[in-house]
Amino acid sequence: MASQTGVIVQQSLNALLEDLSFLPVLHDQARKQAFTSLAAILSTPNHIHKSFLRVPLEKGKVVRIPAFRVQHNDTLGPYKGGIRFHESVNEEEVINLAALMTLKNALYEVPFGGGKGGVAINPRDFSDKELHLICEKYVRYFSDILGPDKDIPAPDVGTGELEMDWMMAEYKSINPGKPYRGSFTGKSIVNGGSLGRREATGKGVYFTFRYLLHDFLLEQKQFLLKSNNRFAKTALSLAEKPITIAVQGFGNVGSIAALEAYQCTYLQNKVVAVSDRNVTLYNAEGLDIPALIEFASLNRGELPVTNEQLSAAKIAAKIKPRDAVLYVNVDVLLLAALEDQIHKQNMEQIKATIIIEGANAPITGEADTFLSNKGVIIIPDILANAGGVIVSYFEWLQGRETQFYSESEVFQLLYEKMKTTLDIILPHYFAAPLPLRQNCYIQAVMKLCTILYRHGKLY
Ligand code: GLU
Repeated sequence: MASQTGVIVQQSLNALLEDLSFLPVLHDQARKQAFTSLAAILSTPNHIHKSFLRVPLEKGKVVRIPAFRVQHNDTLGPYKGGIRFHESVNEEEVINLAALMTLKNALYEVPFGGGKGGVAINPRDFSDKELHLICEKYVRYFSDILGPDKDIPAPDVGTGELEMDWMMAEYKSINPGKPYRGSFTGKSIVNGGSLGRREATGKGVYFTFRYLLHDFLLEQKQFLLKSNNRFAKTALSLAEKPITIAVQGFGNVGSIAALEAYQCTYLQNKVVAVSDRNVTLYNAEGLDIPALIEFASLNRGELPVTNEQLSAAKIAAKIKPRDAVLYVNVDVLLLAALEDQIHKQNMEQIKATIIIEGANAPITGEADTFLSNKGVIIIPDILANAGGVIVSYFEWLQGRETQFYSESEVFQLLYEKMKTTLDIILPHYFAAPLPLRQNCYIQAVMKLCTILYRHGKLY
């Protein structure tokens, strides 16, 4: 794992080596051995499955498309994680994203392991019929390793309900008579999906921010005021004042999180910039997020790119280059696009004092260290964007019970789960110098380590 995930997991393991005291009766030699086993287990995936999907296109050409499913670790339960359709998909990326899923599930005590899938295509280049075929082929090629108790895919970048519906239908026809509802999550509601799953990641992203900056901060103000911690200082500097927000990415995660911020009545939030793959839109007075969501829903998910489109939709905004969103002078920057968006070349231009990782791994290791050293609060992916997989878990449970929860029950359960973990992590974070990411990794690795030890795997 020679990536940011790999480096930080390694650092967290080192920090844990200092104190494996939560493992009972280990003498020094056993401790060292436990550490080495843990490092080996977490730094390599259990299985890498790859194939080329042979797909005849409508125009007569036949293509062979690289496809992957990585099963990183199943200590906590069946492998779980999305399938990404994106032209940059490659083996190393899928391995790292699968490792993140192991940590994310462990952090929130979701009883799943970590996995991830990917198909190296730009879905916009394919017709619906071709995409349908790609989904069927993916399931056919990997059918032996998938299943409700083995490995449960879900949507990720470039995939959604439709793809999950197509995939589950194929799984069902390959496995007649077997339980199939729990084989995929993120399905459409009519097909056994959960209410609230579509909004879950974006809502969870905003919840982590709101909880940190409002609920936790107000309750713990006296403790934070006494703390010398640089992150506590950053949080206090933003308490009870109007907050400006910029959102990179206006897909399922960015648009819902922006809407939550727009609608939040008790924090004075203003979303002043949003972006997608074409533009940044900016308005210092705050953007009309519902109108932008309405526009995007009528225009293949894209934001307005011309002044004519803006005025026809009665939206007041300035059009700026796509990447301008990253450098706007705001308090909070929400990254909800792809990985590696803030890196060595642009890290010094970032002005936000809180960065939220709605996407997976949007900040490189170098930029992460640089920004954290400046006291920037980075709410890491595995903490911020876990709403999706948490509600996937509820969907999987509902599929087993064939009993369905109302939307408000789903969000209630989601927020309770997130709050439980935030209440464990945040006091540690504001009391010690480690960045939030490392705190989360330590918590997740500790959980995995304890279970592996109890299963007799750390020898
Ligand atoms: N793709 C999402 C993630 O990265 C959701 C995964 C899931 O629901 O299994 O967390």
